[in-house]
Amino acid sequence: MFDLLLRGATVVNATGVLRADLAVGGGRVAALLEPQADAAARVERRVDGCFLLPGLVDAHVHLREPGLTHKEDFASGTRAAAAGGVTTLLDMPTDDPWTDSAATLADKMRLATGRLQVDVGFQVALRRALQHADLAAIRALGPVSFEVFTADVPDDYLHAQQSELVSALRMLREFDVLAGVSPGDQSLLDVAPAGHDVAAFVASRPPLAEASGIARAVLAAAESGARVHVRQTNSALGIATWRRMRDLADVSIETTPQCLLFTADDYAQHGANLKASPPMRTEHDRVALLATLREGLIDIVATDHAPHTKEEKAARYASFAQVPGGMPGVQTLLATMLHFVEQGAIDLPALVRMCATNPAQRFGLGRSKGALAPGRDADILVLDLAQYTSISDAAQHSRAAYTPFAGMRVRGKLDSVYLRGALAYTDQQTAASFPPPAGKVIGELAHGHA
Ligand SMILES: [Zn+2]
Repeated sequence: MFDLLLRGATVVNATGVLRADLAVGGGRVAALLEPQADAAARVERRVDGCFLLPGLVDAHVHLREPGLTHKEDFASGTRAAAAGGVTTLLDMPTDDPWTDSAATLADKMRLATGRLQVDVGFQVALRRALQHADLAAIRALGPVSFEVFTADVPDDYLHAQQSELVSALRMLREFDVLAGVSPGDQSLLDVAPAGHDVAAFVASRPPLAEASGIARAVLAAAESGARVHVRQTNSALGIATWRRMRDLADVSIETTPQCLLFTADDYAQHGANLKASPPMRTEHDRVALLATLREGLIDIVATDHAPHTKEEKAARYASFAQVPGGMPGVQTLLATMLHFVEQGAIDLPALVRMCATNPAQRFGLGRSKGALAPGRDADILVLDLAQYTSISDAAQHSRAAYTPFAGMRVRGKLDSVYLRGALAYTDQQTAASFPPPAGKVIGELAHGHA
């Protein structure tokens, strides 16, 4: 007797699609059965004509807790995730304080426990001065990555010199942990642009800095033997650099839906709401990025969900460069990627590969997440391609309370979401009616050095 049986759908994995009835037991996928196979379950549900996808894994999210909870917190951010079909998210370390030690990581894990609608893994910022013993203590708690910054961060975290980046990656290699590297080159940044307008901000973070950062990250990965994941990239020069160098080391690369959909021209309409790093680029850059996505050379699409309140975005600043950087995205990852499916740029297995399978495998969760296969967590999206989604500000659960994608209408509607076999979202959900938080903290807090 299974716990749950979903009948009549098509199962989508990165490897392809299959007509099958999906059986769940003990929170895991128990079997993919022949359609209408003889089987019994406590709950049997017909989802005829729908597609079943593994829950998405968003590898780049800022939940803003601790310290910045007026922008977002574990509850609001994971409600947004559940409503968008993201059943696992990986939280970045740039809150207040930054997550950069065993103590701050353990605090964050404790704070999150019991308040999550989806599963959450944590990423730690690597201080330049971090010692082996500190790294061992952090490693024991099970973070999903260490983030190494090469530009645009406080000095304690800045690995501006290539020698510093290589030393950091050598240490991470010893501990066999993934390094997330935000590509940049401090020597090429105009940290205080003279102009105050959008153009000055865009010019202050040139494609050359990104491309140089990508080259530096790949070369440092090759030299150290470390596994490196290159964070959000969006320039034609950066992508061209990636194409030529990616075989040199164990490296992967990420971009975001906003970089695939917007250019710097869109600042005229969206203004501060679209302000983030890297800046939006030209149509030439966007087309190059999209071509790379089509070809399957983008490993991961993540959102860089980085909300600020409407008031913070609307306030007056001395220059555009000073507008708080970042925008919400975790709730719209599926919908924005469905746009590219509708356009014919990618198919559903490619969506699953970039937004579930690859991020799960790359960040060490491949045994439980990222595929609908026996033994994996039963994190399931029920997607109805006969219906449409209209993205609106009103439907957003993030404290940001807006989305830059408002007004987009895409083919496909998320009918429901299961987290380890239990309903985590249905399309009638309001903020008040979510089920009790069943999301887990990914890591080893119980056995850790807290
Ligand atoms: Zn980010």
